[in-house]
Amino acid sequence: MKKLEKFECLEKYDYEQIVFVQDKSSGLKAIINIHDTTLGPALGGTRMWHYKDEDEALLDGLRLSRGMTYKNAAMGLNLGGGKAVIIGDARKDKSEELFRTFGRYVDSLNGRYITAEDVGINTEDMQLVNQETDHVCGLPGLSGDPSPFTAYGTYCGMKAAAKRAYGSDSLKGKKVAVQGVGHVGYYMVKHLAEEGVEVVVADLYEDNIKRVVNEFGVEVVAPEEIYDVSCDIFAPTALGGIINDQTLERLDCDIIAGSANNQLKEPENHGKKIELMDIIYAPDYVINGGGVINAAEEVFAASYNAKTSKRKVEKIYDKIQRVFEISDRDGIPTYKAADVMAEERINKMSNLNNLYRPKK
Ligand code: NAD
Repeated sequence: MKKLEKFECLEKYDYEQIVFVQDKSSGLKAIINIHDTTLGPALGGTRMWHYKDEDEALLDGLRLSRGMTYKNAAMGLNLGGGKAVIIGDARKDKSEELFRTFGRYVDSLNGRYITAEDVGINTEDMQLVNQETDHVCGLPGLSGDPSPFTAYGTYCGMKAAAKRAYGSDSLKGKKVAVQGVGHVGYYMVKHLAEEGVEVVVADLYEDNIKRVVNEFGVEVVAPEEIYDVSCDIFAPTALGGIINDQTLERLDCDIIAGSANNQLKEPENHGKKIELMDIIYAPDYVINGGGVINAAEEVFAASYNAKTSKRKVEKIYDKIQRVFEISDRDGIPTYKAADVMAEERINKMSNLNNLYRPKK
C-alpha cells in the first residue's frame, strides 16, 4: 500500500482533524478522527485492535469516522462524525493507566469528540475514560448496551422494507434468514419471533445458537448455508462485506435488511447489482442507527429515559421509507439514496451558520 500522506487523507474526504496520540508511560498509541462537526460534536466509539501498522489503524479510523457523520446525519441527530482507534491487543494491553490517559486526551478536545464503546472496548474501560472526561456515553446505568436499540430499529426498518415489497408491513408468516445471533441478532430474533415470523439462523458460536433455539424455537443451518436459504428477508447481522459477487448469486430473497455495518463489499458495484436483481436493500447505516439514537439520548437529554429512546428508534421506519422516496425521486439505488438523505441534512443545517446570532 502506498504510504498515506496525512494531509492528503484530510483533504480527500474533507476531514476536519486527526489527532495522533502517544504516551510512553502507559503505552497508549491512539488516533482520534474527527470527520465533520457541521451538525454538532463528533460522536463515535473507540475501537481497540491489533492493527498490523499505523496506516491500517489510520485508514480504519478514517473510514469509521466518516461513516459516523453519515449515520448521525441520517438519524436526524445534532451530532457530527468521529471515531477513535487505540492500537493494541484488547486481550493483553489494557490497563487503568492506558484508558485514563486516553480519557485525558479526549478531554483535551473540549467536547469536539464524544466517545463510546466499540470493538475491543467494554463498559469498564469506558468508566476509566470517564474518570478523566465527561465526553463519554454508553455508560452503565445510563444508555448502556446499544444492542437492544439497534435490534429494535433494525426490526422497524425491516417492516418499512416489507411495506415497500408487499404493500403491508406485517411480517407475520414471513421467512427471515438471520446471519449472526450475537448481541443484536438475539434481540432481533426475539422481535421477529413475537410477530410470528419463521426464523432461520446461523452463527459460529454454539452457545449463541442454543439461546435462540431454546427461547424462540428457530431453525438452524450451518454458517455457510445461510446464503442458500430461500426466504423473504435476508438479515446480515454479523459481518461486513458479506454482500459480494459470491453471495449475491446465491441469495433467494426479496429484501436485504440487517444490522451489520458495511454490508456491501463494493458499495457502487454491489449496490447496483442488488437493484438489478429486484431485491430491496435497506441501507445498513440507516437501519442500524438505533444504538446511536439511544446514545444521543444520553448526551442531550436532561435525564436519560429508555422509553423515550425507544420511541425515537421507532422512527427508523420513516427514515427507511424516506430513503426509498429519494431512491424513486432521483432514480438511484437505495445505498446511494441514504447518502443523499444524510448530505441533504448536513447541507441544510450548515446554512444555519450563515445567520448571525449575537452572543448571550
Ligand atoms: P456480536 O459480535 O455480538 O455478534 C455477531 C455474531 O455473528 C456472533 O455471534 C458471531 O459468532 C456471528 N458470526 C460471525 N461470523 C459469522 C458467520 N460467518 N456466519 C454466521 N455468524 C457469524 O456483534 P453485534 O454487536 O451483535 O453486532 C452485529 C453486527 O451489527 C456487526 O456488524 C456490528 O458492527 C453491527 N452493529 C452493531 C451495533 C450494536 O449496537 N451492537 C450497532 C450498529 C451496528
